[in-house]
Amino acid sequence: MIVMGIESSCDETGVGIVEWDGATATLLADEVASSVDEHARYGGVVPEVASRAHLQAIVPTMRRAREAAGIDRPDAIAVTIGPGLAGALLVGVAAAKAYALAWDVPLFAVNHLGGHVAVDTLEHGPMPPAVALLVSGGHTHLLGVQDLSQPIVELGTTVDDAAGEAFDKVARLLDLGYPGGPALDAAARGGDPEAIAFPRGMTGPRDAPYDFSFSGLKTAVARYVEGRVRSGQSVSVPDVAASFQEAVADVLTAKAIRACRDRGVETLVLGGGATANSRIRSLAAERTEAAGIELRVPKPRLCTDNGVMIATLGAHVIGGGAQPSPLTVATDPGMSVQISKL
Ligand code: ATP
Ligand code: MG
Ligand code: FE
Repeated sequence: MIVMGIESSCDETGVGIVEWDGATATLLADEVASSVDEHARYGGVVPEVASRAHLQAIVPTMRRAREAAGIDRPDAIAVTIGPGLAGALLVGVAAAKAYALAWDVPLFAVNHLGGHVAVDTLEHGPMPPAVALLVSGGHTHLLGVQDLSQPIVELGTTVDDAAGEAFDKVARLLDLGYPGGPALDAAARGGDPEAIAFPRGMTGPRDAPYDFSFSGLKTAVARYVEGRVRSGQSVSVPDVAASFQEAVADVLTAKAIRACRDRGVETLVLGGGATANSRIRSLAAERTEAAGIELRVPKPRLCTDNGVMIATLGAHVIGGGAQPSPLTVATDPGMSVQISKL
């Protein structure tokens, strides 16, 4: 069975196509059009700009994906209905409905966050019960995964900024440009991660074990830089970047390992654009190895938003026997991960 996935929750218009054999999905096409450059001068994603870009990109991206896969039409369409930007989601969902109707194929409405987890199976095969750590510009979540055809459980999330958002804001503070994550990662390469002891948010004995907070860390970086400038001292951008990055990677990986231990699972899956970060990857590798946990990390291209992840999740949901969604299914910008709208 050929499943097409459509993704438009943020600033990427993604159309992916997979073949599902009943147990595993195989990638046939992965086309992404990003409006990231159009947001750069604003220092963040502008919803209206993203929606217009999706409108322009959706039909050509679908055409390219079908050409790349060498198919005329899929057997089913999966689409992200949430969480995400309301106007952006509408474009992908409207396109999915229109094509489902025109091609007379079933439509499956799926959750964006579940897609970030499911995409790992393309490279690493069927997923055992696992904990997933998702870190991107809009999300920071620890998730419990039993079976990809079933709703995923949220164990914890950020109480303020997303981790990727913190990377972007600190990068801006250090004049490194937008999107700041990759620039900050590069700047940190020559720095000392122990130069500055930045705070580890939500790690006190009374804090929720799987929740995160990054706004205090961002403020601590701003205070440190201001203090140095005010007292006429120089600021080592590599040291600040490396110490900040270490604080983020430390908290994310420590909580993820704890969640694996508490749930008795032996697999940790990473996902989301910020898992491209070199220190998050290396610390996750060190700590999972020490704990005897298998680490699964999709390649960076599959970690950022794309349509293949939605096609892959759709395939698993179909494989689990779900009924198609009605063509009246609505977008759900604030969709929580537990809720299945199938
Ligand atoms: P969503 O939150 O809906 O998944 P998004 O567009 O915000 O969408 P992604 O496209 O998955 O997120 O990832 C982009 C984010 O990842 C940005 O915040 C970017 O700064 C961050 N990022 C990318 N590469 C790195 C890196 N090497 N280190 C740290 N952060 C990174
Ligand atoms: Mg993005
Ligand atoms: Fe995402």
